[in-house]
Amino acid sequence: MILLYGADTAEKIKTEISEMLSELNGYIPTLGIVRIGSNPADISYEKGAIKKMESLSLNTKVFEFEENISSKDFLSEFKKINEDNEIDGILLFRPLPEHIDEKQVIEALYEKKDLDGISYKNIAKVFAGDESGFAPCTAKAVLKIIESNNIELEGKNVVVLGRSMVIGKPVAMLAIKKNATITICHSKTKNLKEVCKKADILIVAIGRAKMINDEYIGENAIVIDVGINFAEGKLCGDVDLENVKNAYMATPVPKGVGAVTTSVLAEHLVRAAIEKRMN
Ligand code: NAP
Repeated sequence: MILLYGADTAEKIKTEISEMLSELNGYIPTLGIVRIGSNPADISYEKGAIKKMESLSLNTKVFEFEENISSKDFLSEFKKINEDNEIDGILLFRPLPEHIDEKQVIEALYEKKDLDGISYKNIAKVFAGDESGFAPCTAKAVLKIIESNNIELEGKNVVVLGRSMVIGKPVAMLAIKKNATITICHSKTKNLKEVCKKADILIVAIGRAKMINDEYIGENAIVIDVGINFAEGKLCGDVDLENVKNAYMATPVPKGVGAVTTSVLAEHLVRAAIEKRMN
């Protein structure tokens, strides 16, 4: 089995970003990270994002808020960050605490600063096949891995396992834009193993540690594992890769999709800064 390491794709994105930066004549874009509370998964992703931005000489500013901030106060603070001309793009950690009106916050976010594709306008563009907006970074990272490894999507049978708005649905839309034939599965899908086994490319984003094995994977399938889980104190994906024999290619966890997501975030940040300067 060929392992598709995210670092190879991340390196290619780095080259693209360096070229894009030359359009900015020395201007250094700034990422605004907005976080309420200190969820360990958010902190871990934040550290990775800061490290990635530093490696590309991009700035990051973290806006951290107490868990008990009121919905009104948070919205007001969020609007200030959104208006701040020094912030070129925003990463907002979600889900927000239940007492915060998430819909109002998302509606306030400028689509041009919405680097992780959470605003309705950006999501609508992904569904319309319009590439001028920002798609959710993880969904885009999956496509980047596929493309950078010269895996053809046109006419391929792609099965997406998971239907969330951050991964499952947008990744399906990005793949259909590349002329793949798509099936989206979820927890109520019948005959899941049989459906998955028919995939040329199986994209797994369910958040179930090592659930996917050879019973779900057809011979010579390409498997992209988006899952990030902890089992027996170790980071693992949704695919039980150690015991998989059927796959022709597969992304490992760690060092797979996760290694590309922050690179896509950086690319989106630089694009946002370029577009801001053009307007
Ligand atoms: P989510 O919102 O919980 O969605 C999970 C999806 O999987 C749902 O559509 C759910 O179906 C489906 N599902 C759950 N159990 C299933 C089962 N037994 N059989 C079939 N379908 C099942 O999760 P998410 O936010 O999309 O994240 C998915 C995974 O990706 C998580 O492990 C997350 O940590 C990881 N992730 C990775 C990155 C990265 O950079 N690599 C970034 C973000 C998230 P229903 O809709 O029917 O409930």
